Amino acid sequence: MEEKIINILSNSNFESRKTTSKLMQLLTKKGFSPTTKFSNKAELTICVGGDGAFIKAVHKNNFSQIPHVGINTGHLGFFQEISPENMEKFVDDYIAGNYTVEELKLVGAEVFTKNKNYILIALNEIVLKAQHSKMIHTHVFVNRNHVEKFSGDGILVSTPSGSTAYNFSSGGAIVYPTLDVLQMTPISPVNSVAYRALPSPIIVPGNHVISLVPEKRYANSNLLLVDGTEYFFNNLKKINFRMSNKSIYRLVFSKDSYWDNLKSKFL
Ligand code: NAP
Ligand code: MN
Repeated sequence: MEEKIINILSNSNFESRKTTSKLMQLLTKKGFSPTTKFSNKAELTICVGGDGAFIKAVHKNNFSQIPHVGINTGHLGFFQEISPENMEKFVDDYIAGNYTVEELKLVGAEVFTKNKNYILIALNEIVLKAQHSKMIHTHVFVNRNHVEKFSGDGILVSTPSGSTAYNFSSGGAIVYPTLDVLQMTPISPVNSVAYRALPSPIIVPGNHVISLVPEKRYANSNLLLVDGTEYFFNNLKKINFRMSNKSIYRLVFSKDSYWDNLKSKFL
């Protein structure tokens, strides 16, 4: 008989570890082979923790195409639909196929430096900032059209599902996850006699390219924040953001869960 492997990836807090061992028992009883070591033969990846645990699991497994579902033992848990109390129902619903599969779009960045290029991918957002809390000064292009010279704390490029995270705190709009768009949101844009920057977010079609070209003298003062993790690049020349052709998948168990979730997590 074929093994029905399920990955369980958990953060290390007490509640998560307790939840994981209960879940292991439950799944084993129902004929699955749960593993806490990621297997790419698994049919499902369960993330236990908060959104941070979900994001970490997704990055660690290189945006695996195995569908994800989250159990929330964390703080907010916007991605984490299942609560530890509802685990049995979740397993039954999973076996019965009572769910839909949601696509979560990713944002990709091609980073050009003097000597080398790099690819970054994020589930929530990628932000250009400056080291040591300085301002950034960067030209902004959309499809090679010059839009502005931006000065401020940073420019954030968010996916639809990331729009409720840092983007939302920065005055960005909430974007329904199925929309094929990226949102470019300024963080503390400066508007003075010295500098001028568009204070409003812009929503850009998913197949357009947003380019940030830092002014030359700032090529070594950048910081890129990828789903909350910092990266620094020497001699940064340009970053091209586009919607990635890769996506990840999440199982959704309750109908209209987006609106329930939004209301319960933000109001
Ligand atoms: P964290 O510091 O715990 O994250 C900040 C908060 O954002 C947490 O409450 C987290 O939920 C929540 N969150 C994450 N993704 C979300 C989403 N798509 N929609 C709504 N809320 C979301 O760090 P983390 O857990 O590793 O998360 C990384 C994210 O933190 C980054 O991608 C960025 O969006 C966000 N961030 C926000 C700010 C800000 O709002 N000023 C600043 C830096 C980073 P949990 O409590 O369940 O983890
Ligand atoms: Mn967190």
